[in-house]
Amino acid sequence: MEPYYVYSNFLKEKYGEKVYRIPINLPLTCPNRDGKIGVGGCTFCGDVGVGFESRNNLESVEEQLQKNINYIGSKYHAKKFIAYFQNYTNTYVEQSKFEECILSSIREDVVEIAISTRPDCVTEEQLKFLKTVNDRYHIEINMELGLQTVNYHTLKNINRGHTLAEFIDCIIRCKKYGFQTTVHMILNLPQDSKEDVIEGAKILSALEVNGVKLHSLYIPKGSIMAQEYERGQFQIGTMEDYIERVAFFLSYLSPDIAIQRLIGRAPEKDVISCNFNTSWWKIKDYIIEYMNQNNLYQGCYFNYLGGKITK
Ligand code: SF4
Repeated sequence: MEPYYVYSNFLKEKYGEKVYRIPINLPLTCPNRDGKIGVGGCTFCGDVGVGFESRNNLESVEEQLQKNINYIGSKYHAKKFIAYFQNYTNTYVEQSKFEECILSSIREDVVEIAISTRPDCVTEEQLKFLKTVNDRYHIEINMELGLQTVNYHTLKNINRGHTLAEFIDCIIRCKKYGFQTTVHMILNLPQDSKEDVIEGAKILSALEVNGVKLHSLYIPKGSIMAQEYERGQFQIGTMEDYIERVAFFLSYLSPDIAIQRLIGRAPEKDVISCNFNTSWWKIKDYIIEYMNQNNLYQGCYFNYLGGKITK
């Protein structure tokens, strides 16, 4: 048994059966790339944003959903789906366009809409609109936020263009509307120590987010980090170090938070370094093995909230 709360189990508990995510790719950009708050983007971000798996963004939302649902539905006999707006900053768009895209994803078999974005790009107007969708169509809303690290010095170094405060604000506002929240974290950023990783688990637990996606640092071709890496400005830690970091992160994380991913992946042709040249599923197995061997499991150190000291 996995020593952590597996996302597919969370979905089965919530929706009563297997649910599949269908990526939707919109022709968008990001304020950290187009000059609004920065140019060049986060230093680890490649030309395609962060979504390698999406369909052609010139297809309509309906077409993308239909084609992927046809394929996944028949392959896995799936009946329920999550419309997942994956690439770039899906809330960095005019309100009318945002509403149009969201409404285009509503279908009988879509039980949830997941929206990937930056924590500094979610407005009250958007949240209010999503609440009407939630109420009217009984579709869950899941706001998926990139954070990567809680160390605000590292956030600055990787050119995120926001600090920890914007993230906390966004989570609090999303939760006020009753939406789910998922957070992306890179656990082995060069400037981050193991203490940063543990603090990340503690902050996400205190904020009661619903899910996390963990990544090891991979370096897309054309990214700023690719240049820094080739100039020898930093090194990527070892696989053993990543495994240990994941194990500690999970040990401090609330057991109620579902783990969508223990490690990311990217096509070889798009990256100059990824996952220690080891397949993602092997690393996943190594993490599970490490945790089991060391009697670690998700939440085994989750004992620090709720006025713990005076209890
Ligand atoms: S990682 Fe996300 S926020 Fe950063 S530049 Fe890429 S698309 Fe923008």
